[in-house]
Amino acid sequence: MEPNYSEYSIAELQDALANIDKQAYPERVEKIESELSSRQPAQSHSEEPLNDDYEPNEQFFKCPTCEKKIGFFSKTANKWGKNKECPHCSAPFESFMKWKVFAIALIPVFFVHLFVLRPLVVSLGFNGAISTGIICGLLTVFAMRYRKVRSPKVT
Ligand SMILES: [Zn+2]
Repeated sequence: MEPNYSEYSIAELQDALANIDKQAYPERVEKIESELSSRQPAQSHSEEPLNDDYEPNEQFFKCPTCEKKIGFFSKTANKWGKNKECPHCSAPFESFMKWKVFAIALIPVFFVHLFVLRPLVVSLGFNGAISTGIICGLLTVFAMRYRKVRSPKVT
């Protein structure tokens, strides 16, 4: 009775190949080897580099993976460092500054600061430097984007 190698696992096949009497059963050796090689594609597929379908999917205070909102004042958004983890789907992502947005927003925001916000802050009896702080904070928030990490850790 010949063993049905198609029902063997890869480990079992390798085990069988290692222990078989190759002189006595050359045709079985052949079958095990072809069974093993037929399973190779499925195995090596998961090891393919994933950089070809890498899509950063930039988001503005949203998770780049599940696209759920991440609040400005949430623990995740205020966590120090660029590597973060989505509170909804726990996919890793990174935050980065989009300097183009920063540069474009800088001039109008500066005028708002000079003619609107600063006089308002001063008229309320606060130090004008608070306005500068608010503006810098707003600019940073405004230019902040979240994107997927290139090679996410398998969780
Ligand atoms: Zn998510």
